[in-house]
Amino acid sequence: MIPNPFETVREVVDPSPPVSDAVKYTTCYMCACRCGIKVHLKDGKVRYIEGNRNHPVNKGVLCAKGSAGIMTHYSPARLTKPLKRVGPRGSGEFEEIEWEEALSTAAGWLKEIRARDPRKLAFFTGRDQSQSLTGWWASNFGTPNHAAHGGFCSVNMAAGGLYTIGGSFWEFGEPDWEHARYFVMFGVAEDHDSNPIKAGLGKLKGHGAKFVSVNPVRTGYSAIADEWVGIRPGTDGLLILAIVHELLKARRVDLDYLVRYTNAHWLVIQAPGSADDGLFARDADGNPLCFDRKAGSLASAMLPDVAPALVGEHTLADGRTAVPAFQLLHDRYVDDEYAPDAVAERCGVPADTIRRLAAEIAHAAFEQEVVIEQPWTDWAGRRHDRMIGRPVAMHAMRGISAHSNGFHTCRALHLLQVLIGSIDAPGGFRYKPPFPKPVPPPVKPVGKADQVKPNTPMAGPPLGFPLGPEDLLIEDDGSPRRIDKAYSWEAPVAAHGLMHMVIRNAWAGDPYPVDLLFMYMANMGWNSSMNTAGTMAMLTDKDPETGEYRIPKIIYADAYASETIAYADLVLPDTTYLERWDCISLLDRPICDADGAADSIRQPVVAPDRDVRPFQDVLIDLGMRIGLPGLTKEDGSPRYPGGYPDYLANHERSPGIGPLAGWRGTDGSKEGKGEPNPDQLSRYVDNQCFWRHEFKPEERYFKHGNKDYLETAVALGLIGKADPIVIQLYSEPLQRFRLAAQGHGDVQPPEQHRERIATYFDPLPFWYPPFEGEALDEAAFPMHAITQRPAAMYHSWGTMNAWLRQIHGLNKLHMSRERAEKLGIADGDWVAVTSHHGRIKAQVKLMEGVNPDTAWTWNAIGKRRGAWNLAADAPEATKGFLLNHLIAELLPEQGGYRYANSDPVTGQAAWYDLRVRIEKVAADAPGTVAEPQFDPLAAPPNAPRAPAIVRHGAKEAAE
Ligand code: SF4
Repeated sequence: MIPNPFETVREVVDPSPPVSDAVKYTTCYMCACRCGIKVHLKDGKVRYIEGNRNHPVNKGVLCAKGSAGIMTHYSPARLTKPLKRVGPRGSGEFEEIEWEEALSTAAGWLKEIRARDPRKLAFFTGRDQSQSLTGWWASNFGTPNHAAHGGFCSVNMAAGGLYTIGGSFWEFGEPDWEHARYFVMFGVAEDHDSNPIKAGLGKLKGHGAKFVSVNPVRTGYSAIADEWVGIRPGTDGLLILAIVHELLKARRVDLDYLVRYTNAHWLVIQAPGSADDGLFARDADGNPLCFDRKAGSLASAMLPDVAPALVGEHTLADGRTAVPAFQLLHDRYVDDEYAPDAVAERCGVPADTIRRLAAEIAHAAFEQEVVIEQPWTDWAGRRHDRMIGRPVAMHAMRGISAHSNGFHTCRALHLLQVLIGSIDAPGGFRYKPPFPKPVPPPVKPVGKADQVKPNTPMAGPPLGFPLGPEDLLIEDDGSPRRIDKAYSWEAPVAAHGLMHMVIRNAWAGDPYPVDLLFMYMANMGWNSSMNTAGTMAMLTDKDPETGEYRIPKIIYADAYASETIAYADLVLPDTTYLERWDCISLLDRPICDADGAADSIRQPVVAPDRDVRPFQDVLIDLGMRIGLPGLTKEDGSPRYPGGYPDYLANHERSPGIGPLAGWRGTDGSKEGKGEPNPDQLSRYVDNQCFWRHEFKPEERYFKHGNKDYLETAVALGLIGKADPIVIQLYSEPLQRFRLAAQGHGDVQPPEQHRERIATYFDPLPFWYPPFEGEALDEAAFPMHAITQRPAAMYHSWGTMNAWLRQIHGLNKLHMSRERAEKLGIADGDWVAVTSHHGRIKAQVKLMEGVNPDTAWTWNAIGKRRGAWNLAADAPEATKGFLLNHLIAELLPEQGGYRYANSDPVTGQAAWYDLRVRIEKVAADAPGTVAEPQFDPLAAPPNAPRAPAIVRHGAKEAAE
C-alpha cells in the first residue's frame, strides 16, 4: 500500500486571518459609480478595501479599480505641499510654500478680480463630485464662467434626454433589469455606472433576455452581448431612425402611451413665414391644444378625458391650419430617406439586420408585455389595476454622444423608446430620482449683462436650460458673454458648458481675455483637451508687447502630479478620496436608483500624512477670505468655520433643502426637506455613509404621470410641483431658436449664424453627417478613430496606481485584421496616424471585433514623460499615446469663421468625429517610441523617489 503522502503534514492553516484592527465605511472614488466600501485599517494604514453589501449602488460588489484604491491612496505621484512656480511656465520648476501663503495669494487674486470684473475668473473643474458646491461658489463669486467636464464628456446625452423625456441614462435613469426582455446598448464599452451595469447584465442573462450591443468595437460589455452590431462611428442616429421607420411603417407603436404621456397629439401651427410657425397652438390660458375626436373640436391637450387625434389637419380658431406633432414625425420618418436599404451602407449595418432588429424590438415590446399586478393612480386621479410594460430597455453614453450630430442622435434614441411606450414602464427605461423633471428643467443659465456685477453674487447658477433665444447669454451684438461661448449662438443649449474651449478662447481673448484660470481635477494640459500640443503652447504663450502670459494667472488643484501641474502658477494639493469629507448630493448627481432616493458621503478614514488639504475645504476657506456672502456672516466672520463638513450639515440652498437629504430637522427625523441637523454627518456615518428613501410599490413606475410618486417627489424636495411631466417628442424650445434664425423675435442670430441655427434647431430629431468628415476629403482620411474606456482604468484615474498600471501600462492602436492586411500592416507594426490636424506614431494590434473602417485605442493611457512621478522610460510615455494630439478644437474655416469642433446645439466636444489615415512606418524609420514626444516634466520638489516597484502590504517598502 502506498503511504498517504499527506499524512505527516501538520501545517496549521488559518483560512481567515485578521487583516485589520479597524473598519470604516465610506464611498469609492476610483470611478464615477460611487459604490459603498468598507476600508480595513491596520495600525492606522489602509490594508484592504471591501465592497459594502448593504450599499444600494453596489450591494457588496467591488471591481478591480475599487479594490486597487489602496495604490491610488499611497501613490508616489501624490502632491505633498502647496507649490509656487519659480521657473518659466511649463518647466515644472516650483518651490514649496506654506498654505497661508498659497491661500492668501489665491485670495488676493480672486478678491481683486471680483471687485473689478468677476467674469475675469474662469473656474472649470473635471470629473469631481462636488459640482453643487463649485457651481454655487462660482455663482456666489459672481462669474458665469464656470462648468465641469460635461461639455467634453456626454452633454449631448444629458441635454438630449432632459429636452425630451426629463431624464437620461446613468445618474438620471437605469434599465429595468428585472423585467427587460430585450436590451440594446449604444456606444458604451465600460460605463460610469460600472458595477450596477455588470450586475444588471448578469440579471438579464439569468432570465434569458437578449442583449444587443451597438458599438464600432467589441470590447467591455459587448463581449457578452448576444449580438454585436459593429456600426460605423457617428451613424447611430441613422440606424435608430431606420428602426423608427420600420416601426412606424408596421404600425408597431404604442399610441395609448403617446396620448397619455407625450406631446404627440399637441397641435403644431402650420403657418410658414409667420412668427409662430411650428409652435404649439394654445388656448387663452396657455394650454396646448389638441383635436378632440369625441367632441369633434379643439380642446386643451392637458385635459384627461379628451380623445385626441394623432393625425390629420385641423383648423384653428383663427382659420389657420395645425397638425398633431405625431403627424409631423410620422411623415418625416416613414420617408424613404430613413429606409433600412437607404442607410445600410452608410451605417455599415446590413438592411436585413436593421429590419430584424426593428422586428425583434417590436416583438419584445408588444408580444412579451410585462404585467405587474400593482394598482396605481395616474396624474389625473384615474385608478389603474395593474402596471403594463413594454420590456425593451436601452442604455447609451459617450459613443453616440461625442459627435457633432450627438444631440439629435440622443433625441432620436429617446424617440424610439417613447414610441414603443417603454419610458418608465416595467421592462423599459426607469427614471432615477430626482428625475423625471419638467422638460426641460425650469432653471435658466445666469450671466447676462445685468446679472454680473462687481462684488455681487449672481442671482442663480451659471448653467441651466434655455427655452429660447431670450435665455441666451449674449451681448447686444450677439457675441458670447461666457469665455467658453456656452449659451451663445455657437452653442445655445450648452447645458454643461464647453470646458474644451476655455484655454483656447482665453488665450485668443475671444470673446475676451481672462485674468485667472482656476482648475480643479481637470487635466486640461493633456488628456482633457483636444489639440494637446496647441493647448500646451497656449498655456505658455506670451504677449510679445507686454511679455506677460496671455493667460496671466493659473491656479490648479489636484491630488496628483498630472501633466497640467507644470502649467500652474500656484498648485493647491488635494487629499486622496480616503482622507476627506465629501457629499454625493441630490443637488448634484446622487446615488439614487429607480426604487428609491438616496445620497451618500465620504468620511476621512485616514488622516493625511502630507501637507495637503481637501479642495472643498480650500474653496470654502477662499470664499470666506474674499468675503463671499454665502460663506460669511453679516459681521464678516466665517459662516462655516468647521469647513466642508460644517457646510454639508448647515448650508441651505433653499429653505429646508441642503446638500444632504437624510436625517434633516433639528432631531434628524425629516427626509428631503427640513431644518439643518448638526448631527447629520454622524447619522450618515452610523448608517454606513448613505441614506435611502424607498418608494412604495405604487410609486415605482410611470413616475412622470404617477400621482403618488409626483406628490412624494414634491414632499422630498425633488421637484417643485406635482404636475404631470409631459414627454416632448416635438421640441418647441428648439423651434423658437429656428424661428429667430428665420427673422422672428427680438433676439435674432447675427447673419453669420442664421443658416446653422435654422438647420440644426430642428424640433424633431434628424441625422446629418458628422462635421469633420464633411469638411475633409474623406478619401484622404478614410478611417474613423475613437477611444474606448477600459474596465480597469477610469480614463487617466489609474495612471498613478501601481496595480492598475500593470493592466493598462500602454495602449496600442487596434484595427481590423482584414483592413490592416489590405494596407500591408501586420500585428505589432508601427504606424503613422494622420488627421487633418496632426500626426502621431503608434503600435498596431489587430483584431476581428471592430468595424473595418475604424481604429481605436484605450482612452487616456498615454502620458507625458516625467508626469505622474513615473520613470522617464515608463511604458505610458514611450509606447502609450493619445488620440487627443490629432483632434482639433476648431473646425476648418467656413465662410471666414471657425466654429468649435462641437455639436451645434449643445457645444459637446466632437472628439469621436475624428478622421485619419493610417500608414505603416517604414521598417528603417528611426525609433520605436510613440510620437509625439515632449520634453520630460520635472518632478515637483521633494517628490518621493519614483520607485521601480511599488509594493503593498507587509513588505510595502519600495525597492
Ligand atoms: S465601479 Fe467604480 S465606484 Fe464602484 S468599486 Fe469600481 S471603481 Fe469603485
